[in-house]
Amino acid sequence: MKPKILIVYTGGTIGMIEDPVSKALRPFNFDHLIENVPKVKMLDYEIDHIQFDQPIDSSDMNVKHWDHICHAIADNYDAYDGFVVLHGTDTMAYTASALSFMLEDLHKPVIITGSQLPIGEVRTDGEENLITALQIAADRDINGKPTVQEVAILFEDYLWRGNRSTKRSADNFNAFKSNNYPELAKIGLGIHFNHDVLHKVSDEQPLKPHYNLDTNVMPVDLFPGLSPEVLRHQLFTPGVKGIVLRTYGAGNAPTAPWFIEAVRECIESGRVILNVTQCVNGGVHPKRYVAGNLLAETGVVSGEDLTFEAAITKMMFLFGQGYDAKEVSQRLTRSIAGEMTLSRPKA
Ligand code: ASP
Repeated sequence: MKPKILIVYTGGTIGMIEDPVSKALRPFNFDHLIENVPKVKMLDYEIDHIQFDQPIDSSDMNVKHWDHICHAIADNYDAYDGFVVLHGTDTMAYTASALSFMLEDLHKPVIITGSQLPIGEVRTDGEENLITALQIAADRDINGKPTVQEVAILFEDYLWRGNRSTKRSADNFNAFKSNNYPELAKIGLGIHFNHDVLHKVSDEQPLKPHYNLDTNVMPVDLFPGLSPEVLRHQLFTPGVKGIVLRTYGAGNAPTAPWFIEAVRECIESGRVILNVTQCVNGGVHPKRYVAGNLLAETGVVSGEDLTFEAAITKMMFLFGQGYDAKEVSQRLTRSIAGEMTLSRPKA
């Protein structure tokens, strides 16, 4: 049986062409993309595709697009062995995180990839990324089960867990990294899977797709010089239900009464605040410093070692499920799709 793979083409650099007037790159259609990768035919797979009516630069990605991608996968789930999502790199980590929450009980590969150079360019990374993504989506273990049973990002030399990934370079072919989780596979002459860290589904349940993420969330970034006025203006933005507070180091924040009081009032007003660190590696340890402990005592939820992308989309997902603030706060402390490490040694 030939592997059956569905490609969902959303846009991104991989399929872009140069605008004849401005010379800037703009999204183009799937036919152009696939014509530039004749080697795909050498894979003995059955490949179909679905494309966005209007392929986009991923800077334009929004929750409606996530619903489309989720539908494309869920509506065709039984008919295919695996899925490859072609996507711009700019918001790829957000989409990967969101899809990991939206596709509950996923047990087939959803491999997201794209490229730094368009597929039509001589030195493009798009051809190799697309071919490797297709091979990973088709890969099976000795029992005939998909090797990858989760949402993952394939880029250049690595396969990363989607909700652990961050775009780390605008210039380098190795554009992604998981700072708090090992690679799922290293790509060299062969594809070397790191079986110990891949998500494994023992009890296959039917896929449960979820839609309609709630956009009433926002980040608040700490910096020395943040004033009470600016902080309050952000925390009490009308309509906002959830805030991802990007703190220092191990989850530390100012200890000044004006700061702690503003945070406490914000939580008492029914909003949820999730603490993630501005550091690229490591996570929140609320008890390590007084500055973190004071914050935790206000009711701020520890985001452990979540990436910002996973933190904001997890909030959007949980509010989108209709949970109230208390329920969202509780659920934020549990892992939904392997997005955070709950067993980290605590300080
Ligand atoms: N701006 C592009 C996008 O995200 C960048 C890329 O694909 O690499 O769609």
